[in-house]
Amino acid sequence: MGVDGLYGRSGTFEHVIERINAAFSAVGDPDGPEVMRFPPGIGRWQLEKSGYLKSSPQLAGTIHSFFGGDREHRTMVELIEKKGDWTAGQKTTEVALAPAACYGVYPAIAARGPLPADGALVDVYTYVFRHEPSIDPARMQMFRQREHVRLGTADQALAFRKLWMERGQAMIGAIGLPFTVDVANDPFFGRTGRLLASSQREESLKFELLVPITSKEQPTACVSFNYHRDLFGQNFGVETASGEPAHTACVGFGVERIALALFRHHGFDPKAWPAAVRNVLGL
Ligand code: ZN
Repeated sequence: MGVDGLYGRSGTFEHVIERINAAFSAVGDPDGPEVMRFPPGIGRWQLEKSGYLKSSPQLAGTIHSFFGGDREHRTMVELIEKKGDWTAGQKTTEVALAPAACYGVYPAIAARGPLPADGALVDVYTYVFRHEPSIDPARMQMFRQREHVRLGTADQALAFRKLWMERGQAMIGAIGLPFTVDVANDPFFGRTGRLLASSQREESLKFELLVPITSKEQPTACVSFNYHRDLFGQNFGVETASGEPAHTACVGFGVERIALALFRHHGFDPKAWPAAVRNVLGL
């Protein structure tokens, strides 16, 4: 689309994305998650409350718009015609871009009051934004995440993550992709970020399922398995039945990356993919 990391999608690509989502549903639906769908924009207050601006300000996106009158408008149009910087007149709106699909879930669940004893399980899917322009097609600025999010006690969150780590490996293996699973950290910002990243690794809070796409040496994270402890419970005020801050975990499938991995390993024509793979995906 003329900007690094922004892409249009073809019909074939979208069809594969749909089939990946269907495979995810086939595994996850029997758990009976509540389905929630949020737009790719979240409230700016949600981004502020989440803690994301503390840990990863370099990746966050906020939406700006024009708030001026006729005079400011004339100036803006003139600047655009002169190819000058017209954006100085733009002001922040109440909308920010979702950095992860699950960010919509925590405040929505918190607004209902304390969780029931068996916690909550939510299915989300949306476009997310990461400000990291790159020519690596597997590193997009806007892409979709399909997630299941578990909210409850620490035991409930950890049991959920363990289950999905097994399921994730089985699913990616079944579609014929080579993978490894490794402990990982989020790309936190600055000096505090380095500390956050090393404690995240030490406590094994994040695991990634990696598939070679553009490089064998540096495979791409296609699925992530995250335990947030009570970070979002604290930040958004999600409480367990006994009034403690809830612990949360999520599994996120990067559907574009999985599609790219399929094209990379099985070729550009899905009709020519191995029968076993086509069968699993219902292609
Ligand atoms: Zn998540």
